[in-house]
Amino acid sequence: MLEPACQADVVIVGAGAAGLSAAHRLNSAGVTTVVLEAAPHVGGRMTTEKVDGFRLDRVGRLLSTSYPGLRTTPGLDALALRPFSPGVLVHAEGRVHRAGEPASAGGTRGALDAARAFVSPPRWTRQRATAAAPPVSRAFPPLGGALDQARLATALGRIATAPVERLPARPERPAGRALAARGMPARTVEGFLRPLLAALLCDPDLTTSSRCADLALRTFASGRLCVPEGGADTLPELLAAALPPGTVRTGVRVTSVSTTSVTTAAHGELRCRAVLVATGARAAAELLPGLRVPPFHPVTVVHHTTDEPPIADAALLLDADRRGPVAHTAVISQVDPSRAPVGRALISSTVLGAPPTDTDRTVRAHLAALYGTATHRWELLAVHHTPDAVPAMPPPHDPRRPVRLLAGLYVCGDHRDTSTVQGTLRSGHRAATALLADLGVDSTAAAAPVPTSTAA
Ligand SMILES: Cc1cc2nc3c(=O)[nH]c(=O)nc-3n(C[C@H](O)[C@H](O)[C@H](O)COP(=O)(O)OP(=O)(O)OC[C@H]3O[C@@H](n4cnc5c(N)ncnc54)[C@H](O)[C@@H]3O)c2cc1C
Repeated sequence: MLEPACQADVVIVGAGAAGLSAAHRLNSAGVTTVVLEAAPHVGGRMTTEKVDGFRLDRVGRLLSTSYPGLRTTPGLDALALRPFSPGVLVHAEGRVHRAGEPASAGGTRGALDAARAFVSPPRWTRQRATAAAPPVSRAFPPLGGALDQARLATALGRIATAPVERLPARPERPAGRALAARGMPARTVEGFLRPLLAALLCDPDLTTSSRCADLALRTFASGRLCVPEGGADTLPELLAAALPPGTVRTGVRVTSVSTTSVTTAAHGELRCRAVLVATGARAAAELLPGLRVPPFHPVTVVHHTTDEPPIADAALLLDADRRGPVAHTAVISQVDPSRAPVGRALISSTVLGAPPTDTDRTVRAHLAALYGTATHRWELLAVHHTPDAVPAMPPPHDPRRPVRLLAGLYVCGDHRDTSTVQGTLRSGHRAATALLADLGVDSTAAAAPVPTSTAA
């Protein structure tokens, strides 16, 4: 049984990023919470396996320095972000190119840089451990000719500075079809935009709403792709550590909920004034019958190690040729050295969709082509497959699904917003705000809201 000290105003079911961020907002408004988590650890999908000094993320690692929730969610002040090198590398037509990189000098690329500086002051550079610039190799030529590069820079600059309220005014259709109508050269679309969006949306067929795709592109153009230092689980662990002691209870599975109580599998019943279900979509629908379960994009992340990094660059390498299962890969130890022991390189690669048969062999063969090096001596560290990794967002997609079901019963998580960490944090904030209003608590007493501008 949960001891009486565990009773609270609000019971939150699930200690992923959504539930933990909501707990912070409720606590800072003076509302006591208890967070019940079925797993033996916090974090949900943002978990990191620790093996022989390596830190191996289950998630596909693409956060952005322009996610407002990373800056404004209470409890995340100590979060250190490790940026990838600017832009991306793309393997297109058998060669590696650099693309989408901000410029340091004038011209149209300078305009893009200025646009980025305008939209996203680089606050993340003030955070711990981001001062050291990630390694960048100058060996890779830019994608396309000078005109292609200028047009891409202008298009990214435009989307970076477009007011976020204007994006939903565009017609909504599947992202793949919208791309074809953008008037960009095929080389830019197929060699850069398509693989970039597939990576950002975890959607290889680009069936996602074009509005969500625009938001994802805006996020890319107005910030830097990054990972939390030390692993994806750093984010939920920081949130959990900053809550009052005893708030989070792991190893407690909730089996039913009402507006005033939750029942657990092995720890009895808890009474409360309100319940917030912050599980993934499928578990939420089990506790809240009738809740819609979206289709999901499955994702597989494969981790290898070797003694020498295959490239001296901290870039995200996208595959545009689609001659193998890997959608994107990175020498993640170049981005965040804390993820591998000294003298070892960690290569993390993402397969979108169901994992191929004989995953290690096919992924290794594809990585040999992408990095242009032999991979047969690389050591496989882990294969993480998550069937319900990312809720699909086909058109029409409502990024503000209701979080208040009844007075006393609320739901949050990436399935209520956009399927990103930013959407997850924002859904937790929206649910906490609705809950405080119903409890008659002044929500301005809670910490600053997650702004909607620049949010993906
Ligand atoms: C492979 C992969 C790649 C991804 N790539 C990206 C990316 O590149 N960029 C990005 O922004 N996002 C990405 N995401 C998405 C991001 O990780 C999620 O949006 C986010 O972690 C969702 O958080 P959540 O709190 O909503 O849900 P979850 O993290 O799923 O947390 C829900 C918690 O509820 C618990 N729970 C469930 N049922 C019960 C119960 N009955 N009782 C008690 N507890 C329960 C679970 O154990 C879990 O801990 C990726 C996800 C995956 C898996």
